[in-house]
Amino acid sequence: MDATSEERLSHVMPELAARVRKMADQLAEESITIRVTQGLRTWAEQDALYAQGRTEAGRVVTNAKGGESWHNYGAAVDVAPFDEGIPDWNLSHPAWKRIVEVGTLMGLVSGTAWKDTPHFELTGRFPATPTHEIKQLHAQGEVQAVWNAINDVRLAGLILGLKLIYISIDNYIHAL
Ligand SMILES: [Zn+2]
Repeated sequence: MDATSEERLSHVMPELAARVRKMADQLAEESITIRVTQGLRTWAEQDALYAQGRTEAGRVVTNAKGGESWHNYGAAVDVAPFDEGIPDWNLSHPAWKRIVEVGTLMGLVSGTAWKDTPHFELTGRFPATPTHEIKQLHAQGEVQAVWNAINDVRLAGLILGLKLIYISIDNYIHAL
């Protein structure tokens, strides 16, 4: 990916960054270039965005205040097709469909469900909006504590999966 995208990825959860790189590689094979247009966004930056179109000039761009977006925890990125050196925000661009498909294939949650097509997040067992537990973790140990919680659950899921496989093999053997 280009240097600007890589700089943004360097501030997000490493597991998310790795998947976005894989996504970009896959899309590149299909002649689609993407740029990471947003990664980690501080709470103050989020509050400033929220004010836009409400208490400040401009149009409304977000419904999330500081702490309410996964960007504030480095667990979300926004991407866009990158044509001739500029991000193409026109959602009629044919590349968007593939971008969403490939991102989803990489295990990322796409923002299309809430009409935020450029947005992808990786949040483990946590829902689309950060919970109170996430805010508490952040207060205790900043983004690293949040990343640990997201990844911890992935490990827990793997262990549960292995147990289920073991139980089915065990049942199968006993059924013989
Ligand atoms: Zn986003």
